[in-house]
Amino acid sequence: VNADLLLGVDIGGTKVATMIARPSGQILNHLSTPTDLSSDAATVEGILLTIQAVMDAAQVSPHGLAAIGIGAPGRVHLESGDWFGSTNVLLTSPPVPLVALVEERFGRPTFMENDVKAGTLGEHRFGAGKGLQHIVYLSLGTGIAAGIIVDGKLYRGVGQAGEIGHAPVERNGPLCNCGTHGCLEMMASGASIARRGCAALRAGQDTLIARLAEGNPEAVTGKLVIEAAAQGDCVALDIMEETASYLAMGVLMIFAAYDPQLLVLAGGLAQAGNILLNPLWKALAEQATGRAWAWEDRVALTALGDKAGALGAVALALQNILPEEPA
Ligand SMILES: [Zn+2]
Repeated sequence: VNADLLLGVDIGGTKVATMIARPSGQILNHLSTPTDLSSDAATVEGILLTIQAVMDAAQVSPHGLAAIGIGAPGRVHLESGDWFGSTNVLLTSPPVPLVALVEERFGRPTFMENDVKAGTLGEHRFGAGKGLQHIVYLSLGTGIAAGIIVDGKLYRGVGQAGEIGHAPVERNGPLCNCGTHGCLEMMASGASIARRGCAALRAGQDTLIARLAEGNPEAVTGKLVIEAAAQGDCVALDIMEETASYLAMGVLMIFAAYDPQLLVLAGGLAQAGNILLNPLWKALAEQATGRAWAWEDRVALTALGDKAGALGAVALALQNILPEEPA
């Protein structure tokens, strides 16, 4: 039995992804199960069962694990190991003492971090940011948030550093649940793409989006609009262009504030690849000129694909059991 294996858990709104990996990032086993949102107790039990399932699949007992890492959406309390949930995984009576419950069940040291911050650690240790000292990881999903590595370490500020999704970029934009109009995440997230696609259908525009959604505006998702754009649909391509023009504002803010060696784009929207990148390069070229370097050299897609979340949780576990690394 190898006691230096690590187990990572990534809790999402639709699935709980888990893996067992070596400190090198080599994955032994991974699996995911649907997130049980029927009650707080069911959500926690689902997470515990998923952890057990990946250990069974890898034929590893808890004694074979050096540590367990958890990336959880929303706010987490690092000292107590309490989890407060998020709009995606809404807890009815937060907080839930998730770290204590996992340690009680499996008897291994367990560490929890906000999922975007965990993803940042994973990208820095195993992915596109490997070996770099200054990176920003921008998670583009239903919402938008960043994780920041400065001088090789996660930067937290007072605790909310990286919540760039709530920086206002459009005064006349829709009202966000944070109370501000036109936040970056209202204008450039996967949800904003879905909103624009839905509006195009309601306006009766002739678009492939309508056929893919079978005429139902409620059925329009960001993924569906991206699919239409990939097939060359003009309305969908315009939506991607508008989205990218706001995303470019977020990218420019990040570079102005942190000057990272690399900005890594991750999350569901990053899976659009060139459908997102091409209009982004165009918007950046229009909004910012006269740079000595090329955007293509400083902005990249995640290298970890759909494993980024769970590998981030592995990196979190590893970081907490390794001796402090020299700066
Ligand atoms: Zn907001």
